[in-house]
Amino acid sequence: MSKQFDQFYINGQWQKPEGQGRHDVIHPATEAVVASVPLGNQADVDKAVSAARAAFDSWSRSSAEFRAELIRKAAARLRERRQDLIDAVSQSMGCPPHITPGLQIDGPVAAFEGYAERCAEMEKDKQVNNSLVVKEAAGVCAFISPWNYPLNQLLGKISPALAAGCTMVVKPSEQTPLQDIIVAEVLHEVGFPPGVFNLVIGLGHEVGAALSAHPEVDVVSFTGSTRAGILVAEAAAPTVKRVTQELGGKSPLIITEDADLEAAVKFGIDDVMINTGQTCIALTRMLVPASQYEQACEIAKTYTESLVVGYEDESVYVGPMSSARQRDTVQSYIAKGMEEATLLTGGLGAPEGLDTGFYVKPTIFRDVTNDMTIAREEIFGPVICMIPYDDLEQGIAIANDTPYGLSSAVYASDIEAGLAIARRLRAGQCYVNNGAFNYDAPFGGYKQSGNGREWGDEGLHEFVEIKAIQL
Ligand code: NAD
Repeated sequence: MSKQFDQFYINGQWQKPEGQGRHDVIHPATEAVVASVPLGNQADVDKAVSAARAAFDSWSRSSAEFRAELIRKAAARLRERRQDLIDAVSQSMGCPPHITPGLQIDGPVAAFEGYAERCAEMEKDKQVNNSLVVKEAAGVCAFISPWNYPLNQLLGKISPALAAGCTMVVKPSEQTPLQDIIVAEVLHEVGFPPGVFNLVIGLGHEVGAALSAHPEVDVVSFTGSTRAGILVAEAAAPTVKRVTQELGGKSPLIITEDADLEAAVKFGIDDVMINTGQTCIALTRMLVPASQYEQACEIAKTYTESLVVGYEDESVYVGPMSSARQRDTVQSYIAKGMEEATLLTGGLGAPEGLDTGFYVKPTIFRDVTNDMTIAREEIFGPVICMIPYDDLEQGIAIANDTPYGLSSAVYASDIEAGLAIARRLRAGQCYVNNGAFNYDAPFGGYKQSGNGREWGDEGLHEFVEIKAIQL
C-alpha cells in the first residue's frame, strides 16, 4: 500500500504545505507507487528559511558538547530505524535491498556520528601574534541533493553543518524524499531545537531555485548534475552566497601493464555496476595497455555476463535504473555507443525476463577512443568504455583528458607504483589497487565535477566562517 505524506517539517513542526503539487514515488523494480509526497513552492521556502534564520543565533552559540550529544542520540536512533532507511532508499531508487545497507546506509550513519567528535573543533581558537582567530558557524544553509545515494548525500551535508552550528533547509530529489522524512522525524525526536533542520520537498527549478536565490540563505551545498549545479551557482551569485558543488564525473581507471589484469578488470566492472552505474565516482573509462587489450576485453565480457540483474534475490548485483527517465537516457547513450564503438556485451533493451522495472543490460563498449560522446559524457548507468593506451604517459594523458575530475583509480603491480600515477591524476579522489572508500577523507571534485569538499575534517570547513579579532 502506498504511503501518503501531507506535510513538511518546518520550525520543529509538521506543517501543511503552501504548494499545491504532489509527486508519486515509484518503485523502480515493480513500477508501483510506493508513496505520494507534497511539492512545495516559494512560500514554503520562505517559511523554512525564516525558521532557520530565527534558530541560527542560539544554535550557533550552543556549546559543542550540546550539539555533539544530540548528534550521538540521533545516530543511535537512525541505527534503530535502519530497516526503515533501507526500505526508503531501496523502494524509491531501486538499489537491491541486500546491497542497500552496506552501500547506502551504514557508512553514512557512522560518519554522521563521527561529526559529534568534530563539534569541539569549533571551540578551538588560534592565537596569531596579536590576533585571536576564531571559528563561527557559516549561517543558514540550503541543501539540494539527488536521488542516487539519497541518505549519503543528505548526511554528507547536514552532519558537518549541525556540528558547526549552522541551521538548514534541505530539499531532496522529489524522486527519493523518504529517508529525509525519517531523518526529520529522528532529529525531532531526539530534541534538535525548532528551526535547526527544516525539510521542504519540491522540484529543482522551483524549490531548488528559490533556495539558491534566497537572500537569507548564506550557504548552498548542491549535489547533482553539472547542468543544475551551474544554475544553482548563477542563482546564488547576486547574493554572494558560498556555493559548494558536488557534480558529475567520467572517471578513469588506469590498469598498468604489470598489474594483475583479471583482478583489475573485475574491480573496474564491480565499481561501475554497483548501484547500476548511478554513482558519481564510477570508473566508467577503463584504460588498458594496448598489449593486453584483447585479453582484458575477454575477461570483461565473461565477467559482466556473469553478473545477475534483478532486485529481490541475494544473488543480484545489478538492480534497475532509478527511473524510467534514467533508463531512457542510458538507452540513448547505448544506442550512441553502438554507432561510435563496438559493443562487447549488453546493448539495447531490457535483460531477458525483466519486463517490469526500469532495467537495462550491463553494457561494455570496446574500441572506444576518448573523443567519442560515450567517453566524454556522463552516462550514469551500467556502461563501461574500454580504451586502449600505448604507454603510461599516454594513459595518464587520456585519463586527464576530460571536463570532469571527481574520481580516478589505478590498478598497478604495487601501491608505490600506483601512488606515483595517482599523484598525476587531476581528480579529487584516486583509488589505488582496490583502496576502500573512506568517510574520514575529503570527498569532492576538480574541474567541472565541482568545488568544495564533503566528509572528513574538510567537510566541516565548508560550514565555518573565520574571524580575526585583533587584541
Ligand atoms: P539533477 O541535477 O537533475 O538534480 C539534483 C538536485 O538538484 C535535485 O534535488 C533537483 O531537484 C535539483 N535541481 C534541479 N534543477 C535545479 C535548479 N535549477 N536549481 C536548483 N536545484 C535544482 O541531478 P540528478 O539527476 O538528481 O542526479 C544525478 C547527477 O548527480 C549526476 O550527474 C551525478 O554525477 C551527480 N552526483 C554527483 C555527486 C557528487 O558527489 N559529485 C554525487 C551524486 C550524484
